[in-house]
Amino acid sequence: MRVLPLASPHARIPLHLQKHMFKKILIANRGEIAVRIIRACRELGIQSVAVFSDADRKSLHVRLANEAYAIGPAPSRESYLRIDKLVDVARRTGCDAVHPGYGFLSENAALPRACMDAGFTFIGPPADAMEALGSKTAARQLARRADVPTVPGTNDPIGKPAEAQALAQSMGYPILLKAIAGGGGKGMRLVYSDVEFESAYRDASSEAMNAFGDARLYLEKYLERPRHIEIQIFADAHGRVVSLGERECSVQRRHQKVVEEAPSPIVTPELRKKMSEAAVRLARAGGYVNAGTVEFLVDASVNFYFLEVNTRLQVEHPVTEQVTGLDLVKLQIAIAAGHRLPFAWESITPRGHAIEVRLYAEDPDNNFFPSPGKILSRHAPSGPGIRLDEGVYEGWSVPNDYDPLLSKLIAWGNSREETIARLRRALEEYAITGIKTNAGLFRRILSEPDFLRGEIHTRWLDELLRRPRSAASFANGEDQDTGAFDAATIAAAIWHATQSSAASFVTPPADAGPSRWKLEGRRQQLDRTP
Ligand code: ADP
Repeated sequence: MRVLPLASPHARIPLHLQKHMFKKILIANRGEIAVRIIRACRELGIQSVAVFSDADRKSLHVRLANEAYAIGPAPSRESYLRIDKLVDVARRTGCDAVHPGYGFLSENAALPRACMDAGFTFIGPPADAMEALGSKTAARQLARRADVPTVPGTNDPIGKPAEAQALAQSMGYPILLKAIAGGGGKGMRLVYSDVEFESAYRDASSEAMNAFGDARLYLEKYLERPRHIEIQIFADAHGRVVSLGERECSVQRRHQKVVEEAPSPIVTPELRKKMSEAAVRLARAGGYVNAGTVEFLVDASVNFYFLEVNTRLQVEHPVTEQVTGLDLVKLQIAIAAGHRLPFAWESITPRGHAIEVRLYAEDPDNNFFPSPGKILSRHAPSGPGIRLDEGVYEGWSVPNDYDPLLSKLIAWGNSREETIARLRRALEEYAITGIKTNAGLFRRILSEPDFLRGEIHTRWLDELLRRPRSAASFANGEDQDTGAFDAATIAAAIWHATQSSAASFVTPPADAGPSRWKLEGRRQQLDRTP
């Protein structure tokens, strides 16, 4: 593989020493992705400014950033979604760029517009490209013009329910009603027959209205048991658009990805080339710049159909990083600063295999309901081929106000088999007490013969979860949400709790997080909150 290590036209000069590099970046996000971006800033010698809601005052991103400012109460509408407050912090702190992460405002064109008006660089696509590709129907129209096959369906918002029903009949059931502004599976309803149509339409449009303030829907033919395979693209502002290959994201619970891997077990170099060319054509047609993901559904005959574009960094970007050796966040920053992509995509072939599992604070015994609360103890896995991207620490309380993603556990190996073995080993080491997690679900998935053979589709996990558990899997402890370290950590947590009223008998090592001095400084900054 021939990939330059840094996203710079002068790869031998460190990015932070180059003329066009930011001095200070505002991170308009929280949780593990805010931590991820802070780390990239540190490596580049760029100052980072965090923002936080009242619920996140003690969060890891606040501790790790160079500066941190309160922006309002816990509900995201009053804090992380307030463009005026974000711009105000960026202005007061002298930032020259804003990174939106994923979720929150990352796909809202009002943020790049506000950044431009205020004179900051938005680390993401231009507002127009975000709109052209971010709206599902606009992107479908663009895809058709760019000769990219789309899932059969309507290319415009559908009108009244009766008209929409007539369209569904002509298309043939089952169909999916989907929100134009959709995301996170919201505003989506599967309809099998005429009888269900009207109420499904009502539910989908009111859910879309609540989630996105836009009730408009469109129709897609429902593909039975497809695979979800997406292409990571990158475009610079000088006309170069590249593909960094695919990620397979077919292991989903209720249309939400929970396991992602690269490369896909079914993608051949020829298919990778065809899908990459389609994704690059679409990005070019939309005038795209920076990181984006073109999602496809792939049927049993390996035909691929365009699904949507995510105009931002994806949660699952680490698997691409592991197999390409690139740092996608640093690449995003470099491109936003005007640098050229230093490689052609033909030069990139995946090296080895990577798999990510999304560890959530949720209760598998209670329908995967969020399980917020205080983390009493935790043991983080490490060792060969293991990466843990997270926004948590022992003693921190997981708030109830946001997506309960705790950590992304990523394994890399020379082959898919080695990667799976490493991930299983890491999951055995992983232990957390005080909250419930879905770790046990991954122990189960990673021992399923279908998964081991790579024979998965987007309904596979939901079907698996409906099946009764085998005696062997119970015996293996795959339903447990804590690992082999469990008994020891629980004992340690109890012991610690009983001792905690005594004087602190454990002196933290000098490098265990920010110093007292820094935390005091942080407190003063908080008092100066804009
Ligand atoms: P969202 O933006 O809400 O996440 P997507 O359009 O990305 O919605 O679809 C999410 C998931 O829903 C897909 O990965 C797939 O599992 C399922 N899905 C979406 N559209 C279809 C379709 N037409 N046929 C079958 N499954 C679909």
